[in-house]
Amino acid sequence: MTMEFMPQRPNRFSIDLQVIGDNVAALRRTVGPQVRFFATIKADAYGFGVLPVAATALAAGADALSVVRLEDAIALRKAGIGCQILLYAGYVIDQEYVRAVDAYDLTPTLHDRHSLDAMTRFLHRRIGCAIKVDAGQERIGVRAEDLAGFAAEARASGKLRIDILNTHPHVIDGDYQHLLWQFERFMAACQSVQRPGEAGPLRLFASSRVLANRCGMVLSGIDPGQALFQLPARLTGDGLPGPTPFAALTSRLIHVFPVERTAHAAESPVPTRPGTRIGIVPLGYGDGIARMHTDTVLVRGRRMPIVRPSSIEYTRIDLSDCPDAQVGDEVAFVGRQGDDRITPEEVMRHHGVRRVTDLVLPLGPAVPRDYLPWQHRAPASSPSTETAA
Ligand SMILES: *Cc1c(COP(=O)(O)O)cnc(C)c1O
Repeated sequence: MTMEFMPQRPNRFSIDLQVIGDNVAALRRTVGPQVRFFATIKADAYGFGVLPVAATALAAGADALSVVRLEDAIALRKAGIGCQILLYAGYVIDQEYVRAVDAYDLTPTLHDRHSLDAMTRFLHRRIGCAIKVDAGQERIGVRAEDLAGFAAEARASGKLRIDILNTHPHVIDGDYQHLLWQFERFMAACQSVQRPGEAGPLRLFASSRVLANRCGMVLSGIDPGQALFQLPARLTGDGLPGPTPFAALTSRLIHVFPVERTAHAAESPVPTRPGTRIGIVPLGYGDGIARMHTDTVLVRGRRMPIVRPSSIEYTRIDLSDCPDAQVGDEVAFVGRQGDDRITPEEVMRHHGVRRVTDLVLPLGPAVPRDYLPWQHRAPASSPSTETAA
């Protein structure tokens, strides 16, 4: 039997695309119209979903996209997205990879000798690429001082045009000197490959934390990721981090029962006070929710405690103080019911998570995403524009 309609578990992760669109528009206003804006949507758009986030970011003012996973880039192309897609390093480059880059018109990144050799070997035509420079992150890329020689070899291959030079600096808040050292190292590296009379490759230095520090290090392009999902305090105008697109995480009760056990009360996984009622939702740590709640949930507009620990597929709720709760009732881990609301910020404080993307990333793909639409709207206020260097 083939199943044409597949019922889903009653779990929903609701994402407000308006917040993402507004953030993209605010970042665009911050850097001005001339800067090429890559919306970084790696890791399935940090858990928010690569296709809806890409469409929103492009409609709201981004020019291009950057991802790591080939399957994300291919899904974007298959969805009809025609903008430039930059692939950050993330593979041992082989013939299959190069074939996909070529077939889907993607911009690959060279980050070391092996990636250069493999690209050159397997390409059948000349394409544009990026070179990732390591200017202080000590993670991946060509050492800034080695860029000139590396770029010369890439050009000499006849297969590669250097369209982009990018780096992802290591930012320590408040340590401007450390950032400036990396900026100057990157600038010197860019200078070392510049050929007279040519515009030269696009320079990407500013990811979210560089933009957040408003230090004027916006070059000809930017590639923020995190900031698409929450504007840092210095970019909101009111000194507080902006709202997040995390609108709700909800489930429904699939089982409600009174606890009647009295034997081995100390070993019971649930409280055994007289009158205890337990409700079950089909959402567990297998869905990545270990840090997605405040240890309480909303049921019928009231906060009810979660009974720890969750299991892989289920979470128990202590409904003793909610005698009217029944199968089918909505359970909000994050979201609004009646006059109460559990915000993602409350969940982040509860677990000491600083970035909403770190909260959302573990949420598994089996939790269906649900999107509130984005609509273009004029900005309420226009923060000053940083000049492009
Ligand atoms: C993730 C990433 C970015 C974006 O970083 P954020 O800190 O999320 O803004 C930019 N460049 C590279 C190479 C990355 O891997």
